[in-house]
Amino acid sequence: MSAVRDVIIIGSGPAGLTAAIYTARANLHPLVIEGEPSSTSDQPGGQLMLTTEVENYPGFVDGIMGPELMASFRGQAARFGAEYLTEKVTRVDFSQRPFKVWVRDDEYQARSIIVSTGARSLMLGLPRETELVGYGVSTCATCDGFFFRGHDIAVVGGGDSALEEALFLTKFAAKVTIVHRRGELRASKIMQERAFKNDKIEFLWDTVVTELLGETKLEGVRVRNLDTAEESQLPVTGLFVAIGHVPNTDVFKGQLDMEDNGYLITLGKSSRTNVPGVFACGDVQDHTYRQAITAAGSGCMAAIDAERWLESLGETENEIVETPRNW
Ligand code: NAP
Repeated sequence: MSAVRDVIIIGSGPAGLTAAIYTARANLHPLVIEGEPSSTSDQPGGQLMLTTEVENYPGFVDGIMGPELMASFRGQAARFGAEYLTEKVTRVDFSQRPFKVWVRDDEYQARSIIVSTGARSLMLGLPRETELVGYGVSTCATCDGFFFRGHDIAVVGGGDSALEEALFLTKFAAKVTIVHRRGELRASKIMQERAFKNDKIEFLWDTVVTELLGETKLEGVRVRNLDTAEESQLPVTGLFVAIGHVPNTDVFKGQLDMEDNGYLITLGKSSRTNVPGVFACGDVQDHTYRQAITAAGSGCMAAIDAERWLESLGETENEIVETPRNW
């Protein structure tokens, strides 16, 4: 067991790392438990590690690559003394202070916690979908696009993510078919215009993927038109699933109040959760805006909230205190 820290930050996307910059500059010596490398969006650096060019983060006239932006955030927080643990939190106990956080059998304690675990990609729920991730099925065009040079591939979804993935994939693929379950896209107008203008992109409207074909790797998908119920096969070697996200909150079930869809509830215009001393920021508590800049802003709020909370406790409060369920 290590000493009681002022603050532990769980998660390292734009929200967590902004909280790290602010708490580190406030001399709170944050420990950032940043997640572990994986193919999903709860890895260190969060969803921006799986994206290509970020064109709407203020300050970068020509845009910046997502991983490069996150490396800058991380380095900036490290410069002020933030420490990193490249592991995933496996259990928490917020019922008393100091709060306890475990990485497998290793226990960490802190007087305040900032939760910034973000959200991860939704999957279609088709048989063998998970098995085929890395063998034709992907949720990350940036990571896997290169493998599909000259191939015909498909993207599922009609939001900004799907169009962004499809546009990026046209750099590699011969043809990209966007399979969307409705006749109208949800994506922003500018992304729609870009996709419609791109000769390599085709649309299959009112259509869903019903089966993944191929034994050890993807060799095609079966699709169904929802209007006509007609089934057909698309001979694609890659299927990029871009249908939205779920928050990474499993480890907080029973510890923090959450909405029915699993997003953490924060109080009023603050980052406070229902447990005094535990704060939440970024996509884990925001299914409306979900932008890097809003996540970063809320990370700043969480850091300031945590700093004020610690000040309100005074310097000597280190004994064990039962935490009320509400402020
Ligand atoms: P989203 O906006 O929720 O779109 C999800 C898409 O997937 C929708 O078109 C939805 O269809 C479809 N879908 C959901 N479940 C499905 C299923 N089981 N089978 C087939 N299709 C399914 O999610 P997102 O595209 O990930 O975007 C999330 C947020 O991030 C948005 O606010 C977006 O603007 C933002 N974003 C911005 C950028 C950018 O600015 N560069 C890039 C990516 C994301 P329906 O339309 O029928 O519901």
